[in-house]
Amino acid sequence: MSEAIITNLKPLIGQSISELESFAESLGEKPFRGRQLFDWIYRQEVDEISNMTDLSKSLREKLNSVPIHPLKLVNRDESLSQQTRKVLFELADGNLVEAVLMQEGKRVTVCLSTQVGCALNCGFCATAKMGFIKNLTVGEIVDQFLHLQKISKEKITNVVFMGMGEPFLNYKNTIAAADFLHHPKGINMAAWRITISTAGVVPKIQQFSEEKHPYKLAISLNGTTQEQRLKTMPVSKTYSFSSLIKASKEYAYHSRNRITFEYVLMDGINNEPRDVDRLLQLLSSVECKLNVIPYNEIDGIYKRPSDEKIESFMNLLKLAPFPVTVRWSKGTDIDAGCGQLATKSAHK
Ligand code: SAH
Repeated sequence: MSEAIITNLKPLIGQSISELESFAESLGEKPFRGRQLFDWIYRQEVDEISNMTDLSKSLREKLNSVPIHPLKLVNRDESLSQQTRKVLFELADGNLVEAVLMQEGKRVTVCLSTQVGCALNCGFCATAKMGFIKNLTVGEIVDQFLHLQKISKEKITNVVFMGMGEPFLNYKNTIAAADFLHHPKGINMAAWRITISTAGVVPKIQQFSEEKHPYKLAISLNGTTQEQRLKTMPVSKTYSFSSLIKASKEYAYHSRNRITFEYVLMDGINNEPRDVDRLLQLLSSVECKLNVIPYNEIDGIYKRPSDEKIESFMNLLKLAPFPVTVRWSKGTDIDAGCGQLATKSAHK
């Protein structure tokens, strides 16, 4: 095979079983060799061809020049608590994305990115400042997981699609990546351990609902009225607050899955007692959980409420008939907290 063909090859990570079967055939091998590759990469988490011991020597030689990882790990930061690690990856074209690994007792969660940058321009989010650069491929999303699993001492137990980007504006690849993580012949992670978070792309919430995907859905509510939400999340111009609430209710009803509403608490924006009243009114009839995220400050006009204010907001929420939790972001010392992920291209 000539060099030119080899450098044009798609990395193995991100290819489905049938793609790997066809790939094996294209090398003059039997299709089952493709299934063996899938097993090595995803179930056994082996990324060196020389360690794929049941492949014939001649096949291993053919595979030696085939790229496996679509992403290159270029930097690692560890928070002072050592429980959070942020990893920087370089794409083949020099663009950069980040992902985060968090350990809390037995729970090991990874937060994956779905896009380089983001188009939604939420005023409080660092990724927004990059603008939208591109969608990640399925392989680039899944590879974040595989790299982080190699770094983690413990098995990863949960995945959240809450890194850079809006998963529902890269819908097809995000769902396909979740399907890879859930695949019984590969990583085999339970569907309820995988959460996809959206800023409120209503038609995609409807599609997700109609297609009956088993993954958990989180919605970044971040406000209690259309007017308030418009101030921080321009996406509500296109998809109104009321249509978001309606789609959420329909999803919760049809899927019978508990939906998670995320609520980034910003001082003077959405942390008044009347916001609690409205949350109770809006969400009491929905099968849901409310996750309050005290704002992680980035450069900009928004402020995190004082601890007392956060506490009094949480106290008022004790009346809620649904579970309410606070997410004290991990790793803010290394800018790995919610909304703090942003990168500059490796070319710049
Ligand atoms: N685009 C998706 C996923 C990425 S953001 C979404 O909006 O859901 C993941 C979560 O972090 C969202 O709930 C978002 O509202 C929150 N977030 C963004 N910036 C933040 C910040 N500076 N502090 C705390 N949370 C933030």
